[in-house]
Amino acid sequence: MRKNSGGFVYVLITCLVFLNVFVYSKIITNHIPEANYEKAESGAGNAVETDDGGGRANTLDENHKYINAADADVKSGNLILVNASYPYDFDASPSVSPKEDPVSVYYNKTDSYFVKDINVSLNPTTITAFNGLMDAFYEKVGKKCVIITQGHRTYDEQKEMLDLKVAQYGEDQKVAQKPGFSEHHTGYALDISTYENQIMGTFTGEDDYAFVHENAHKYGFILRYPEEKEDVTGISYEPWHLRYVGIPHSIYIYENGITLEEYIKLLSLYPFESGHLKIQDKDTGEEYEVYSVKSEGKATPVPVPKDENAVYSVSGEKAGNIIVTIQK
Ligand SMILES: [Zn+2]
Repeated sequence: MRKNSGGFVYVLITCLVFLNVFVYSKIITNHIPEANYEKAESGAGNAVETDDGGGRANTLDENHKYINAADADVKSGNLILVNASYPYDFDASPSVSPKEDPVSVYYNKTDSYFVKDINVSLNPTTITAFNGLMDAFYEKVGKKCVIITQGHRTYDEQKEMLDLKVAQYGEDQKVAQKPGFSEHHTGYALDISTYENQIMGTFTGEDDYAFVHENAHKYGFILRYPEEKEDVTGISYEPWHLRYVGIPHSIYIYENGITLEEYIKLLSLYPFESGHLKIQDKDTGEEYEVYSVKSEGKATPVPVPKDENAVYSVSGEKAGNIIVTIQK
């Protein structure tokens, strides 16, 4: 009797295990982004078994492989949205998207513009891109007349600034964001002023300075708080505040007159498995393809080009997706 009941339990457990494996594999198959079948069927290649490294086998077309993104990858990178709804994540330690440490602008800039003091810092990528924009501006107007006044800000620096503005304009001031909610925490945002004959002036982007607004996108920058977009950004027009998002995103945002908020929403409509957003840089002729991968939390398999020579980048956007940008 004991022996029989043991056998029954054994059979029952075996059945449950099989059922479990079947259900689990079904869930996974439905969950992982699927191969670009249009490509596979058109003869570009047969679907192959690919392991994403986390032990999850799945069919992915032969041009792609998976990399594993962590939860923090949604919160890092050049495309992250930081506004009243999306606070900056100071502790995020990403595994596939970059997290840069700000460095002094003074020691890394070219000679075509000024910086307020040696304490103004920005991410190395932001400085390199701004050097390019300012060198072009200097070449165009023939004078050194732009100064960076604000770069990266820590939580405490933002708090200090807020306290100062509240003392100056009262509790309902609209100049400074609450600590944690300023784009300046990212190291991708900067404020500029005009600086002529040692006199600092508000940067309005008029006359010669229009070059900056008209060409910033060619270097990866956007005017983050444009005119008449206050209802979207929550912040009134700031002609002096530039944000690095990188090429080709800056080009698309500029050419379509949208904000980062609107662009991030748009990218969510271009998942890996359907049509990708195609952007062309008309100046260089370079073509780009952009797609989004919905975060699955702690580990998200992100399809990227398999070709070792492929040029691509990965960034989070804070709203739940990981964005892959491929240079064709
Ligand atoms: Zn600013």
